[in-house]
Formats: sequence, structure tokens, C-alpha cells
Amino acid sequence: MKDFIHFNAYSIDEAVALLSRYGGNAEIIAGGTDLLGKMKDRILPSYPEALINIKTIPGLDQIEEKEGMISIGALVTLSCVAEHPVIQKTCTALAQAASRTASPHLRNMGTLAGNICQDIRCWYYRAPQNRFSCLRKGGGRCYAIKGDNRYHSIFGGSVKGGCFAVHPSDTAPALIALNARIITSKQSISADTFFNVGVTHTTVLANDEIITAIQIPAPAPDTRSTFQKFALRKSIDFPIVNCAVAVTEKNGSIAHARLCLNAVSVVPRRAVKTEEVLTGNKIDETVAEEAAMAAVADAKPMEGNAYMIPVTRAIVKRTILACRENHGG
Ligand SMILES: Cc1cc2nc3c(=O)[nH]c(=O)nc-3n(C[C@H](O)[C@H](O)[C@H](O)COP(=O)(O)OP(=O)(O)OC[C@H]3O[C@@H](n4cnc5c(N)ncnc54)[C@H](O)[C@@H]3O)c2cc1C
Ligand code: SF4
Repeated sequence: MKDFIHFNAYSIDEAVALLSRYGGNAEIIAGGTDLLGKMKDRILPSYPEALINIKTIPGLDQIEEKEGMISIGALVTLSCVAEHPVIQKTCTALAQAASRTASPHLRNMGTLAGNICQDIRCWYYRAPQNRFSCLRKGGGRCYAIKGDNRYHSIFGGSVKGGCFAVHPSDTAPALIALNARIITSKQSISADTFFNVGVTHTTVLANDEIITAIQIPAPAPDTRSTFQKFALRKSIDFPIVNCAVAVTEKNGSIAHARLCLNAVSVVPRRAVKTEEVLTGNKIDETVAEEAAMAAVADAKPMEGNAYMIPVTRAIVKRTILACRENHGG
């Protein structure tokens, strides 16, 4: 690993000032479970000169309920999210998503904020020693278009004619389904618009911007949510597809639905047509099937990943049916 300067920040202001001082050549480190692997493998053409440790900032590891909001501090670990009784009850999809992420050790280290800021998964991009200087790193081509694209996007590419790498976060679709907001040192951003594809970035965060908390509005009465994931291995593995849904019922049918997929597209993908199918209906096999078909209606698979379409359809259907059975929250 290349040398870097390590700072412990003791306040948000100090962390922001350090980021500004290095003008894009510094990175925040939280659990370090994604960042350190990237640095050790030297996957990128350039490396941060400085790492700003925010684990030394007090108060960012709290989960609070206030003014109709559940606020999850940026340093709350995935284990804490998964095990927190209020999150399990009112934001079930998020607790389930966190509990299905990686392994117990990674969940104890990895934070919720780090989970949504993690970098993309593409084996060309992640190859050690920056072996493939692809479009997403500022290079000239996307190796996945003609190469091995079995784990790439089935909903088209991005970044000027390419980049079919998927966003791998398990918690992102749950946060979008639950209408969360990402609170930063500068602003409050809807989780819907937080993800953004660019050369070496995956979110809309500026170089000197830090997530301080993630806020979820307390769900309306009769709201239920759930999360499902399909991965090749049952233990530690990134998703081939994951899905979260939140539905609010009124007079026995669905008054409001939000459903989001991830790992099948360059950013988490809200399935608006699926939400339309669900709204006004009761969940049963037929509705769940129709809603699942709508989720993949716009899919445009690449040469190696057409298998992801039936898998996605099955996971969407399973998520919707699981939501019918989930009376927890
Ligand atoms: C073997 C393995 C398996 C994994 N499996 C999964 C999986 O199944 N599902 C899944 O979703 N993920 C998985 N991950 C990815 C990831 O490591 C974890 O999801 C974890 O949550 C990342 O959090 P972290 O705190 O360790 O982030 P870090 O590695 O510390 O940071 C990741 C990125 O987020 C930025 N960042 C962190 N906190 C903030 C903040 N407050 N403000 C602004 N930027 C910030 C950092 O600068 C960095 O760019 C896996 C990782 C490994 C190594
Ligand atoms: S899919 Fe994206 S990250 Fe992967 S090789 Fe193509 S441009 Fe690079």
C-alpha cells in the first residue's frame, strides 16, 4: 500500500476543513472495509494523500427517534442497524438488509454511511494494480461491453457510452423504499437522488462533504416493509440482485408503495411501474407476479447476464409476497 497521512478528526468542521485542505486528494475513513481493500489492491490510478478518520468524532454512532424521524448517525455500524429494536419494528426492510450484508465481522466494522458510499463492483475496475484503466477511471473504454459481463447492469450503462458496473449496496434499496434522507455537512439529500455515476464517484457528495446522519421518516400507520437478496453464496457474498419494498395499506388495499432494486443497474433503481401495479390492489400471487413483470419490462441485458432477468423477477415477487406476511413494520 502507498504511504498516506492519517488524521483523527474530532469534529465535523475539522473533518471538512481537512478534506478542503487536500482538495480531492483525501478520503474519509469509517469502518475501512471497502476503502482499505481498494488501497491495498491499488485498483485506482491515483491514491488519497490523506485519510481522515471520523470514528474519533463523538456522537455519530447514535440511533435516535425525534420529531417523527428515526435518525441514524453516520458511524452506526451495520450490526447495530440490524439489531436495533425500533429499526426492526418500524423499518424492517433496513434491519433485514443490514443483517444480510457481508459477514458478522464486516457488519461490526462497516457503517451504514460507508455502505451507501462504497465503490462499484466490476472485476475489471477492481482488478489489482489498476490493470484495466477503464472509462470509469477516466480511461478510453469499457472492458465489460465485449468482455465478461455476467454481473453487470441489465438496465443499460452510464458515463458517456459505457460503464455497466452495478451499485452493490444492500442497504441502499431499503433506504430508498423507506424514503430516507441523507444528511450531510452541507445539505439534506433524498436517498432517491443520492446515487450518481461518474469517473471515480458513485454519489452526489462533493469532495469536502461528509454524511453526518441518515434520517427515515417514521412510517405511516399500516406501513410494512421487507427486503430480499439473491446471492450465489448463502454466507458472505455481494448481491446478484436485492429488493426492498414498503407498502402502506388503507381499507384493505395498498394506498402507497415504494419498491427499489439494486445490483442490477448502475445506481439503485426505483421500480415505478411496479409501484403503480401495486397501488390500489391487495397483495396476492397474481398482483405480485404482474408487479414483478413490470420491474423487468425495460431490461436490456448484455451478452452474459440475461439470466438476471428471471432472477430479478423472482426476487421482486418474493419481496412483495414476504411483505404481505410481514406484520412487523
Ligand atoms: C468481503 C466483503 C464482502 C462485502 N459484502 C457486502 C455485501 O454483501 N453487501 C454490501 O452492501 N456491501 C458489502 N461489502 C462492502 C462494504 O465494505 C460494506 O458494505 C461496509 O458497509 C462499508 O462501510 P465502511 O464503514 O467500512 O466504509 P469505508 O470503507 O470506511 O468507506 C467506504 C467509502 O465511503 C466513504 N465514507 C464512509 N463514511 C462516510 C461519511 N460519513 N461521509 C462521506 N463519505 C463516507 C469513504 O470515504 C469511502 O469512499 C463487502 C465488503 C467486503 C470486503
Ligand atoms: S463496467 Fe464500468 S467499471 Fe467496469 S470496465 Fe466498464 S467502465 Fe469500467
